[in-house]
Amino acid sequence: MSYVVLARKWRPQSFEDLVGQEHVSTTIGNAIAQNRVAHAFLFTGVRGVGKTTSARILAKALNCVNGPTAKPCQVCPQCREITEGRDLDVQEIDAASYTGIDDVRRLQSTLGPLPARDRFKIFIVDEVHMLSGPAWNAFLKTLEEPPPHVKFIFATTEVHKVPVTILSRCQRYDFKLISALRIAARLRWVLEQEKIQADDAAVKTVAREAAGSMRDAMSLLDQVIAWVGVEGELITAEGVSKVLGVADRSVLYRLAEAVLAGDAATGVRLVGDLAQQGYDLPHVARDFLGLLRDLVIAKIADDPARLLDLADEELADVKAVAAPVEVDDLTRLHQGFSRAFDDIVRSGQPRASLEMALVRLSRRPPLVPVDELIRRLSDLERRLGGAPSGPSGGPRGGAPGPSGGQGPARRPGPAPGSFSSPAEAPRAPSPQAAPPPPAPAPAPTPARPAPPAAPVAAPPAPAPQPARPAAPPPAAAAPAPVFTPPRAPTAPPPAPAPARQEAPPPAPARPSVPPRAGGPPPDVEAWRAVLSLVRERRPALASVLEHAALLRFGPERVEIGYEASSFLVGQATDAGAREILLAALSTHFGRAPELSFETIASKNGAVTVAMLDTADRKVKLDAARRAVAEHPLVAAAIELLGAELRDVRVAEAEA
Ligand SMILES: [Zn+2]
Repeated sequence: MSYVVLARKWRPQSFEDLVGQEHVSTTIGNAIAQNRVAHAFLFTGVRGVGKTTSARILAKALNCVNGPTAKPCQVCPQCREITEGRDLDVQEIDAASYTGIDDVRRLQSTLGPLPARDRFKIFIVDEVHMLSGPAWNAFLKTLEEPPPHVKFIFATTEVHKVPVTILSRCQRYDFKLISALRIAARLRWVLEQEKIQADDAAVKTVAREAAGSMRDAMSLLDQVIAWVGVEGELITAEGVSKVLGVADRSVLYRLAEAVLAGDAATGVRLVGDLAQQGYDLPHVARDFLGLLRDLVIAKIADDPARLLDLADEELADVKAVAAPVEVDDLTRLHQGFSRAFDDIVRSGQPRASLEMALVRLSRRPPLVPVDELIRRLSDLERRLGGAPSGPSGGPRGGAPGPSGGQGPARRPGPAPGSFSSPAEAPRAPSPQAAPPPPAPAPAPTPARPAPPAAPVAAPPAPAPQPARPAAPPPAAAAPAPVFTPPRAPTAPPPAPAPARQEAPPPAPARPSVPPRAGGPPPDVEAWRAVLSLVRERRPALASVLEHAALLRFGPERVEIGYEASSFLVGQATDAGAREILLAALSTHFGRAPELSFETIASKNGAVTVAMLDTADRKVKLDAARRAVAEHPLVAAAIELLGAELRDVRVAEAEA
């Protein structure tokens, strides 16, 4: 007796046997039970998931002498002949080879007549998207006015190629990929029927390799059985790996352990062994990527067994590999390798690509958890908080800091080493930038080195200081407090190249621009007071007056100057404005002074409140920025994180 391949021998004959497509069989079963069977079905899904099998089961269900029934008897002539593919009223058409005009004519002529024996004339059209235009038309005519005795079952892997006119007349069923667990269960059942022994890991490996297709799973199993050959011999995972060219899981584990431990040499050696034994390296890379995913899932999931298609002992192994590693490190590894994966698959030299990917990943910089960084920073802060000697008096005015009673003076001992040690400080940053900065000339492959390689990192050595915070106040900033001519910047502004690395000029004696510390001469303050009175009545007028030059200010006489061209003149001098200003002045002086508006050539030589305010704000902002930039905590953070100070923003309100 000739050998029948497993896929045919154990093809499901009833909906109950159909694995992984319960949503289809249930719906069809219900439709049959309620006598609401459509006249055209469309089964879609990737190959090997049970579309044609389901079509045959459906044909039996419709034509069984006991039918229509969801459970065809399997023994009546109809059931038997359909199973054997020789029922005259059930035609299976392969659309790909059914394109000639003669085929179509024959089809048209067969659609009309009643079935020879069965209840329905059933057309099962496989790969229906391959039909020619005339063939579609022949079907369409029938679909538009379906004779009650005709049923169509279309199957396709490419539903998007099926004309909409056809789609809209069909009841559509989408077949899913079958989970490896379900496939494994079916494989085990088949092995039992065949009286063949196989260990669990072997079955799972075959199921995984089938990638959701039951037919592929059966074919692979055929292959494995043929290789083992000897009756009574146990099929092992190792044997399966050899037959299917799949790297043994244990090799993958060792590969993962090597990379996780940063042992690039071992990784490369393992790849060499695999290459020598003739393994398909892109395939190995795919399995390795799968393993990295398994490691993450095993690490984070409460019930990983449900999410991973692994035998129990495999799951235990995966957990063991993942146990000593941080999740973040595992995800980083997965991310890095999946980027490299495309390269490996497409590369003309997959071995080199795989090797270099493993080397890069092995040399990834250590991951410093954010918690750890924060801890180091707060350590630092605590030390600084307690040390009033710090430049610029430290934050919060030398308050003893959270460490309270603990003599902060003692602390500097251990802490500084913890972040200044050059070994780790510069490597800390950018936790997901996998590549180690020093990786020398990686990837000799023609394919360009995987993205994570060179370009990203290079945090240290910020030689030029591009930071541009706190530009030194330009000339304008130094306003003489008096409203006599602002004698241009006398003392040079402190040129505060903002705090940096080595030697920030400690607390640069905040010079030059005296921020009206002693208070400006009374006139300006008095004028401000008057303006605030004005503001109460007409805020817009106060704003206008802030831009006026105060030429003279006294109980006798107040002179206000505007540039002739200023559009503000009109707003300040109209009768209402004048009245409000006078009232404010009267309140201020206790009597009404003489008020006049003068036209001046330019404000040169005069000071306006607006100018003072602007200059004042600038001085404060600059000081605040400098204080932040020079703050020891910030400087330390820059060093610790390998960061760079780009900008300091100070909220206006604070300034
Ligand atoms: Zn039957």
